[in-house]
Amino acid sequence: MALEGAAMEFIQPASWSDALAIKAATPAAVPLAGGTDLMVELNFDARRPELLLDLTRITDLTEWDRADGRLRLGAGVTYTRVIHELGGVLPGLAMAARTVGSPQIRNRGTVGGNLGTASPAGDSHPPLLAGEASIEAASVHGTRMISAADFYTGVKANALAPDELIAAIHAPLPSGPEQFSKIGTRNAMVIAVAAFSLALHPDRKEVSTGIGSAAPTPRRAMAAEAFLTGALDEDGLWGSRADLPETISAEFGRLVATAAAPIDDVRGTAAYRLHSLTVLARRTLAWAWRDYQHGDLTEGG
Ligand SMILES: Cc1cc2nc3c(=O)[nH]c(=O)nc-3n(C[C@H](O)[C@H](O)[C@H](O)COP(=O)(O)OP(=O)(O)OC[C@H]3O[C@@H](n4cnc5c(N)ncnc54)[C@H](O)[C@@H]3O)c2cc1C
Repeated sequence: MALEGAAMEFIQPASWSDALAIKAATPAAVPLAGGTDLMVELNFDARRPELLLDLTRITDLTEWDRADGRLRLGAGVTYTRVIHELGGVLPGLAMAARTVGSPQIRNRGTVGGNLGTASPAGDSHPPLLAGEASIEAASVHGTRMISAADFYTGVKANALAPDELIAAIHAPLPSGPEQFSKIGTRNAMVIAVAAFSLALHPDRKEVSTGIGSAAPTPRRAMAAEAFLTGALDEDGLWGSRADLPETISAEFGRLVATAAAPIDDVRGTAAYRLHSLTVLARRTLAWAWRDYQHGDLTEGG
């Protein structure tokens, strides 16, 4: 397709209400946050939107605050800020943020942009799923909350309506440890071959999970969650904080892999992805349980 020379308008609204009005009037307008996905596509002429809607001047998007046991993270908060400002508050997301790209990418790239792209390999998705976060979608008609589990609708597709923008991410403050782990072909600047996140919720004696890069969309491993929740309860492990029996972690790892639907691609085979998920699930469970045994709810503990 000949895209060369096609005109592209660029608008930089200064307020959120202006941005929403522009999106309502021109649903084909493509929002621009850090540009670390979008500018790559434009540079390769993979797409040439008629209107680029630059959101970087809208300060509301770059704020976060805590209220009523939840954290509201503006869509334009960068990975660098998540790491430095929220490491102890949303540890799973901060761990994932630390693995994204390079310092330059983390300085520009945002969680809202990761959700906008909705790649199955996006690193913020597993911790948002495990943390039972919701996405605040906004339009001129108002806002609605979409649970992370319902947000990803296909490969690089999400549940936003054409006139909606992502305003923020809402995450309940964790009551227990969270963990994230990712396997790639090297240590830095790498797209995940498989990723996994786990959250323990001692307050309600439940666990939740998020799988990345091993299905058409990021997804939870529901059977694995139900198994682990039941096993921890049955053995009285929330109360005793005793070591986890090997049979429990092995079965958890096996069930996590059964929730995936991976493909073979240049980064890895489906079989390798399934095997790595089993390992990632057992590993994150071991780390999170160790944190729980030591009463440490935050990362690095
Ligand atoms: C070298 C390099 C390394 C990378 N490494 C990683 C990695 O390790 N892990 C990873 O997950 N990603 C990685 N990425 C991809 C990218 O950095 C992330 O997906 C990042 O989160 C995108 O955020 P952004 O703010 O730059 O989004 P942008 O590029 O500005 O936008 C991305 C998409 O989201 C849409 N969008 C942006 N804001 C909104 C909004 N408020 N409402 C609705 N839609 C919106 C845009 O229209 C676009 O479709 C890498 C990219 C590069 C270039």
